[in-house]
Amino acid sequence: MSPETKPDFLINPEGLRIDGRRTDEMRPIELKVGVLKQADGSASIRQGNTYILAAVYGPRELHPRHLTINDRAYLRCVYRMATFSVPDRKRPAPSRREREISMVIANALKPALFLEDYPRAVVDVFIQVIQADGGTRCAAINAASLALADAGIPMKTLVPAVAVGKAEGKLLVDLGDEEDKYGGGDVPMAMLGTTGEITLLQQDGSFAKEELVEAMGMGVTAMKYILELQKEALKSAYTKKVAVEGEELDEYEDDLETDLGEAEIAGEEDE
Ligand code: UDP
Repeated sequence: MSPETKPDFLINPEGLRIDGRRTDEMRPIELKVGVLKQADGSASIRQGNTYILAAVYGPRELHPRHLTINDRAYLRCVYRMATFSVPDRKRPAPSRREREISMVIANALKPALFLEDYPRAVVDVFIQVIQADGGTRCAAINAASLALADAGIPMKTLVPAVAVGKAEGKLLVDLGDEEDKYGGGDVPMAMLGTTGEITLLQQDGSFAKEELVEAMGMGVTAMKYILELQKEALKSAYTKKVAVEGEELDEYEDDLETDLGEAEIAGEEDE
C-alpha cells in the first residue's frame, strides 16, 4: 500500500464520497459463517477493504480459575490486529487500543447472550483483523455475533453494528479509513437485533445534539440492513449444511424463518 496522503476533500461537489458512495451508503458487506474448522463457531466479514475473522470456543472450562463467575459464563473477547493489517506495521504486543476494543466488543455482545445457562464456564471469542480499513470494531461485532450463533451459544438475538461519522459538515454512514482519519468525528454503535436496545455507543470528535440524534437514526437504519445480511448469512450456511447432511431441507428453512430465528438456531439442542 502506498503511503497515505490527506485527500483534498472527503465529499466532492456532487455530494459523493472518495469511494463514490452517497453519504448514507454502506460499503459492500460479505458475511460468511463456519469458515474455520477448529473453532466451535466462526465467521468472516469483508466490509469494503476491512477483513476480519471471528472464532468462538466454548462454553468450556475457564482458566485461570480466579476469573470464574459463579452465576454465569464469562464472555472473553480478544480483538487483535495482524501486524500486516495496516499500512505501518502494527507492533505485535497487545496495545491499549486493542484491549479497550476487546472490552467494548464484549460489552456490546453480552446482553444478547444467555450466559447464565453456563455458570463458571468461559465463552472465548477471538477476533483477528486481517486487513483494517476503518470501522474494525463494528465489523468485528457483526462477525463475532454470527460466530457465537454458529457455536450454538444460546442467544436472544444477533447484534449488528456500524460507525456513523462526520466530514465537511455532512454525516456519513460506515466510515472508511480516510474518512475516519481526516473527518470530523466518529460514532460507533451496536444494537440488539430484536429490540433495538443500544449496546455500544462511543464518540470521537464533537457533535451537536441534533447531529448526534441524526447520526443515531442513520446508524439504526444501517444496522437493520446489516441484521438482514447476518440472518441471510446464517441461513445460507445452515441450509448448505443440512443439504450436505441430507436432512429435510424445507422443514429446516421454516425453522430459520420464525421471528426468533437466530435464538432458535442457537438454542435448538436445549429444547
Ligand atoms: N488503524 C491503523 N493503525 C492502528 C490502528 C488503527 O492504521 O494501529 C486504522 C485502521 O484502519 C482502523 C482505523 O485506523 O480501522 C480507525 O481506528 P479506530 O481506533 O477508530 O477503530 P475502528 O474505526 O477500526 O473501529
